[in-house]
Amino acid sequence: MNTLLPTSIVGSLPKPSWLAQPETLWSPWKLEGDALAEGKQDALRSAVQEQARRGIDVISDGEQTRQHFVTTFIEHLSGVDFDQRETVRIRDRYDASVPTVVGAVSREKPVFVDDARFLRQQTDQPIKWALPGPMTMIDTLSDRHYRSREKLAWEFATILNQEARELEAAGVDVIQFDEPAFNVFFDELKDWGVATLERAAEGLRAETVVHICYGYGIKANNDWKATLGSEWRQYEESFPLLQQSIIDTVSLERANSHVPLDLIELIRGKKVMLGAIDVSSTTVETPEQVADTLRDALAFVDADKLVPSTNCGMAPLPRDVALGKLSALSAGAALLRDELSANAR
Ligand SMILES: [Zn+2]
Repeated sequence: MNTLLPTSIVGSLPKPSWLAQPETLWSPWKLEGDALAEGKQDALRSAVQEQARRGIDVISDGEQTRQHFVTTFIEHLSGVDFDQRETVRIRDRYDASVPTVVGAVSREKPVFVDDARFLRQQTDQPIKWALPGPMTMIDTLSDRHYRSREKLAWEFATILNQEARELEAAGVDVIQFDEPAFNVFFDELKDWGVATLERAAEGLRAETVVHICYGYGIKANNDWKATLGSEWRQYEESFPLLQQSIIDTVSLERANSHVPLDLIELIRGKKVMLGAIDVSSTTVETPEQVADTLRDALAFVDADKLVPSTNCGMAPLPRDVALGKLSALSAGAALLRDELSANAR
């Protein structure tokens, strides 16, 4: 990427209403069979065109072909029984009915590689693909086989690395691992969390990103955030470890959050994918607001390492709002880019 301040979104975009119920997480598909396969591809095409038209530099699939950022990956693995569901506590925050690990987990065939190849065909711009991180995967399951979160995380890390290598071979330029669990389980984060993430990213030439957020879209996440007080210092736990890791880029949320900006200093040297779009609000930011959020961060990250982004996925938003936010993101980045090049003259 030669562009200064290359923009990209964290992950999801709303799906078209003919494909899935809008403004709903876990929304069931409205089509089936061949019609569903074709519908997913049409939705992905549209997501790519909207991002490109609205000035996004690194293009994602908008998660148009998957139902959920963790579960859709797990569904494709063997060793997990989706009929045997148990209620477990997720992110130490809310109870959910999840599938059960009943035997050794393995990836018998690629999960997203065909979809990534299709995305590659739609654009000449750099492309990014998101995978769940090992810790977030184990935290979305019941385990009756390994009976050890750490052991299962290492297994998933190996599987994720297989998938990531094939995504890279399919032409993916940036591979992102989503680890919201890094904001919750600090002891495990230190013991094996970052180590398993590095295992997942091992040997990749593609740029690697870890996305750590506070969660959206459900009441339990909003309630939890309300308990965190005026300063959200959770990143203080993961950032020093990530600064020392092989991961290239750290994605964090900033717009309308209570994350103290100076925490970014803890990842000095890494690229910072900064959330300058609030995905929990239906108000579309102005370009000036986006530029302000980005400019403030420049005290703690060099401009050539700043990647303007959204706070998280935008699946739960009304479609026109999410698309408006894409335009705001690129317009805000352009404002700051002009400012920086004027100052350099
Ligand atoms: Zn997120």
